Amino acid sequence: MPTATKDSTFNLKLCGACAAKITFIFMESGKRMPVDWPPQKKIILVNGRGVLVDSFRPHWVSCTESNRFRATRNRQLKLWS
Ligand SMILES: [Zn+2]
Repeated sequence: MPTATKDSTFNLKLCGACAAKITFIFMESGKRMPVDWPPQKKIILVNGRGVLVDSFRPHWVSCTESNRFRATRNRQLKLWS
């Protein structure tokens, strides 16, 4: 994939709970979102034209230990920061 996002452009980390490779995305709101690595390639339509984009899945969707994270938000932030 010549257009693949380079690992070096993201600060990759390992999830503190399940040890999966994750990275953080800054949301429009300014909050950091832990997401699965690597991103998926997707095509979106902008003004009727296809544009290739990176699509990230929030890590709490796939994390095998996500139940632990949902217990308290504060704990979640500690594990993932
Ligand atoms: Zn995890």
